[in-house]
Amino acid sequence: MNKDSSGKVKFFSGEEIPLELHKVRVVQKLFLNPINQRLKAIEDAGFNTFQLNTKDVFLDMLTDSGTNAMSDNQVASMLQADDAYAGSQSFYRMEGAIREVFGTHYVLPVHQGRAAENIISQAFIKKGDVIPMNYHFTTTKAHMELNGGTIFEIYTDEALKIKSNNPFKGNIDIQKLKDLIKKYGTDCIPFIRFEASTNLIGGQPFSIANMREVCEIAKEHGIMMVMDASLIGENAYFIKQREEEFKNTSIKDILLLMFSLVDLSYFSSRKVSSTRGGGICTNRKDLFDKMRDLVTLYEGFLTYGGMSVREIEAMAVGIRETTDETVISQSPSFIAYLVNALDKLGIPVVTPAGALGCHIDCMGFLPHVPQTEYPAGALATALYIISGCRGMERGTISSVRDENGKDILADVELLRLAFPRRVFTLSQTMFTLDRLTWLFKNRNLVGGLRFVEEPAVLRFFNGRLEPTSDWPQKLVKQFKIDFGDSL
Ligand SMILES: *Cc1c(COP(=O)(O)O)cnc(C)c1O
Repeated sequence: MNKDSSGKVKFFSGEEIPLELHKVRVVQKLFLNPINQRLKAIEDAGFNTFQLNTKDVFLDMLTDSGTNAMSDNQVASMLQADDAYAGSQSFYRMEGAIREVFGTHYVLPVHQGRAAENIISQAFIKKGDVIPMNYHFTTTKAHMELNGGTIFEIYTDEALKIKSNNPFKGNIDIQKLKDLIKKYGTDCIPFIRFEASTNLIGGQPFSIANMREVCEIAKEHGIMMVMDASLIGENAYFIKQREEEFKNTSIKDILLLMFSLVDLSYFSSRKVSSTRGGGICTNRKDLFDKMRDLVTLYEGFLTYGGMSVREIEAMAVGIRETTDETVISQSPSFIAYLVNALDKLGIPVVTPAGALGCHIDCMGFLPHVPQTEYPAGALATALYIISGCRGMERGTISSVRDENGKDILADVELLRLAFPRRVFTLSQTMFTLDRLTWLFKNRNLVGGLRFVEEPAVLRFFNGRLEPTSDWPQKLVKQFKIDFGDSL
């Protein structure tokens, strides 16, 4: 194997341009339809980007989950899959990769990240328990609450600031942690949870320094440490980039250090290794024993855990590739390119650039749209109409109503434009930047949305909305004036 090269390449011009350190060998045709067709498609989708058919989508920036590009070695590995209910060699290859890359001996396979959350919550959380964490993830919170736990997000004051220079907005606030332990005692705190590259606050990492401090406190009090490692590669990459102590440390060693600090880790392979599936890993036999039978009950036998052996093979290769900086830097460097360009133009965006996507601040972008009219949903709609780019609303539509039927307004109204690994090119990124710039100039044309069909649970997936006026038509009209018959 060639020496592991860093993902960063300097340009003579001095410009910060991300460079693709891979070549494209299999491609999928995309459709950039005329704007009238896109308007019709979003109307049919109830002004909800989850309801679009990808034949109407140009750049699918909805999510990074299960949408990363696989490497040639991953695809090749699928041919050697060993079909066996029990004792499949595919599993042992995957277990070997985890032992090598994460440094953990015991591995439990599960069908995806949330399945790991189900097993861990059932095994360790009892009614009345309190779980401190840097920030929740939707499925994490749901499983913990289902088992009678209450989550406490003890992030630092910087975490929810849109514009920030703080390199580690995913850190845990040490004082808040101490106060929480003092208030509730250790008996009802089954574990403290760290989420790598904190998903819902803009893919923001935590530092090793913070991790060490939190783990020290946990050890003092005999509390277990759990790490959600779904976005671990990117967090390790940010540690190397942003934490002085580790600037010369290899990603491999940073990963080993991170896993060695906690008692238990779990991950979604949809993110980590560009496949499907997931896993739970630990070096503690007592923890493994507590979860083992739950895996056989809910997921499948211990050597497949609800996954196909082909996925398990690709996962093994994908986990090893997580130590390759040219792989894990790819998505963050494209995100940084877009975020820094938007920031320079004065377009409100979460800074510093994080993992998984570019997060537009929709309350800053559309200050005239009240939160009760869903600015993040409105911006997702508007961007789709004028560009065919599909983002995900992460604001009040993704929230719930209180007992009086009033919307509980989200902390932040974000439009997430996900950058799955090695999927988009630089010119596609520049196209997104160009259309966002045009939209920002014409932001006064964008109005709000209201629900016409609202499911009682997880309304953001299947809900249907409508615009509060004929603003989408006005937007189309202005687009045609400025772009003529361009797509
Ligand atoms: C995606 C994700 C999960 C859930 O994983 P699935 O495979 O989608 O079930 C859990 N935690 C984090 C941080 C994630 O990003």
